[in-house]
Order: sequence, then structure tokens, then C-alpha cells
Amino acid sequence: MKKEFNPLRKMNRRFVFLIPIFSIFFIACPYEKTEEKGKTPLILISMDGFRWDYFDKTDTPNFDLLISAGVKAKALIPSFPTKTFPNHITIVTGKHPENHGIIANRMYDPVFDEFYYIGEGSAPVRDGKWYEAEPIWVTAEKQGQTAMTMFWPASEAEIMGVRPTEYFVYDGSVNHNERIDQILNWLDYTPSKRPKFLSTYFSHLDDAGHNHGPGSEEVIGAIQEMDRSVGRLINGLKSRNMFQATNILLVSDHGMASISPDSIIFLDDYIDMDDVHIVDWSPVAAIRPKGDVNSIFTTLKNAHPKMTVYKKGDAPARLHYNNHRRIQPITAVADEHWSISTRENFDKGDHSEGFGKATHGYDPKYTSMGGIFVGHGPAFKQEMDGPGFSNIHLYEMMCKILNLTPATNDGSLDSIKVFLQN
Ligand code: AMP
Ligand code: ZN
Ligand code: ZN
Repeated sequence: MKKEFNPLRKMNRRFVFLIPIFSIFFIACPYEKTEEKGKTPLILISMDGFRWDYFDKTDTPNFDLLISAGVKAKALIPSFPTKTFPNHITIVTGKHPENHGIIANRMYDPVFDEFYYIGEGSAPVRDGKWYEAEPIWVTAEKQGQTAMTMFWPASEAEIMGVRPTEYFVYDGSVNHNERIDQILNWLDYTPSKRPKFLSTYFSHLDDAGHNHGPGSEEVIGAIQEMDRSVGRLINGLKSRNMFQATNILLVSDHGMASISPDSIIFLDDYIDMDDVHIVDWSPVAAIRPKGDVNSIFTTLKNAHPKMTVYKKGDAPARLHYNNHRRIQPITAVADEHWSISTRENFDKGDHSEGFGKATHGYDPKYTSMGGIFVGHGPAFKQEMDGPGFSNIHLYEMMCKILNLTPATNDGSLDSIKVFLQN
């Protein structure tokens, strides 16, 4: 027979008579509830490149469990450009990329005279000078809460003089179970050391999407693998009696769109490549003319029907992509499914972005760029399927859940409070 948890079983029976007295005290004590709320951890999980419609591609019993008892948005709308670092930093700071400084995965800073790039072993990723907004783990630590990160872009950097209490430098070879088990181990710390904010990150779906395309069997396999990882977390929390007392926020940074070698815009068909530096390639090319900006801009502006070209300062306001020194004088953006390259690079098979079956980075107006938002736990409503919203609001949401005073940011609680209990 299944034994029910009985708190009286071990209690010395001589003290049983005290229970009614203590009960009255606890009911009357206004701090009890706040104290409980104060202890609820928040686990932020990112599954890179998880497109909003992937849940429908295969059986996902563990995602379903979170969704059916929690909240889900139709999509999480990414910020421009729809790349990993700009969006992960937006999620944890609530600022548009032009306001947090990570305006691309690859950037040139004219003041530092240095390049920023991502990937394992990247030194700039670990250098706090690149980040100009306060991530949620810094807000938490500054306000006396403990944060621990089992990967999150930039969590390995000291930002504004603060680091998570425990963190790991990114190593994509750490297997998925180990990432989940590290989260569970941290939750096993004694209450005084236990983190209140935790994060983890998986690139598995992004890799499968790039290499095999969003419609592939490999993406279906990767969705199932991610579902198993969430299942491991749910079971680990349940075995600790913590599942209902933990807030889980599952997000992704962007979606994925197929590309093809037949849909390439060759810049060297229009300009002499010796006249420019290309800081970042595709689908958003960051172009730094060596001489006159206007002549290159005028040539590229009407060059190809599948490419939109902005001179710095003239990008539409909705993209929030004008005001940072790391934004180059000319930004060329390919339409969905299109890539930017040169004939020379393409013929050599040399592509800075890799030339897979799919990519992202495009204008967030394309539904294919939409990511996911799922929330489960005491902070969230139940059984709610809500509208899509911009990822700039997640920082405010997390501050509310963690009871933190947010730093200045571009999001608003009003835009997302519909998903929260109160
Ligand atoms: P993207 O193609 O824009 O989705 O970038 C995904 C890539 O970002 C992953 O495949 C990783 O190589 C890289 N990445 C993710 N997290 C980190 C990190 N913390 N440090 C360095 N590179 C990272
Ligand atoms: Zn990504
Ligand atoms: Zn990617």
C-alpha cells in the first residue's frame, strides 16, 4: 500500500497538544505566506532554436504536462536580429539589443577596436565590458538572492562587478542529463545556500535545425530528446516533493527557416568587396565601407529584390536597430529563406555562417522566427493558452516572480501579467 506522507508520524506524541496553539499562531502570522513565496525557486530553461510550432510535430508527454497545468503563449516573439546572443541577453535584461550592446553574434566595437564572437572558448563572451544592461542573475545577487547558472549566454562573465554564485563556462559537450542533474543538485543545497534563480541552456534543437532543417526527422528526434530532459527535471523535482513548489520558465531565443543554395544574394555581383569590411554575414550582413558610405548604400539599396538595406539610423523603429556604436553604417537583411554571401566564398565552400539546411536571424515579422514560452508553477496561471508576446517583457516577469526590484529596461509587466497568478 502506498504510504501517505504524515508529518505527525515522527513527532513526539507528548507535544501533540501544542498543535492547535501553533496553528493559530501560523494562521495569524502574516509573514508565513510571504516567506513561502520567498523560497520558491525559479528555473529558467532555454532550448535554442525551438520554433513555436514544434510541440505539434511529435508526442511530447513532459512538455504537455507543463503546458496543461501551466501557461503557454502562441509564440515568444524574438528581437532583431533573431540570433542567439542578442536574444538571450534581451531575455535576461529586458532591453532591446541596441540597449544592451549585444547587437549580433559577431560584432566590431570601434572604441575597443575589438571583435566579439560566440562559441566555445570565446574570450569576449567572458569579458563583462561588452554587456551594458543588468541580467536577472545580477539583479538577484545585488538584492541578496542566490543565482546559479548551468549555462546561459554571458552568465560566465562578470557583469557590473557581479557573477552568479556558481556558474559554468560554456561547454557544449556536457550531456543533457548532467545539466538537469546539476540543477537538481543545487536544489539539494541546505536552505541557506540553495539558489533562488537557476538557469540552463540546450543547443541541441538549434544544431538539428541548422543541419537538417525544421521539417527533418532529426528535429523530431531532438524535440523528443528535449522532452526527455524536461521529464528528468520534473521527476527529479517530484522525488524531492518540490515540483508544485518550483516555478519553471521554458523559453527559446528564435525559430528556424529553411535555406537553399538556390536562394543566395551575392554581394560581389554589385560591389567590389575590397571596398568594404563585412563584420557579420548572413542573413544580416553588417557592412563597414572603407570609404564613402553613401555610394555603397545607393548601390546595394536596389541591388536585389530579396534584400532590404538600411543605412544606420534609418532602420524602422520597430526593429530598434539604430542606436549603438557596434551597429555598422550599412545593414543588409535577407528575406526569409534567403542567404547573403559572395560568389567567391560560395564557390570555395567557405561560409562564415556555415551553409546548412536552415537558419535564423531574419526580421522577427516572419512567424518562422517565433520561439516558445511555457510557464509552470505557483507563480503562473493554470491551463492557459495565451497570445504571443515580445521577449523584452520576460525580465519584468522574472523580477515579479522573484520579488525583485527591476533595473531600468524596455519591457512592461502590464504586457504579460495575464500569465501570472497575481
Ligand atoms: P545561433 O546559431 O545564433 O543559434 O548560436 C548558437 C550557438 O551559440 C551554439 O551552438 C553555441 O555554440 C553558442 N553558444 C551558446 N551558449 C554559449 C556560451 N555561453 N558561450 C559561447 N557560445 C555559446
Ligand atoms: Zn539560437
Ligand atoms: Zn542557430
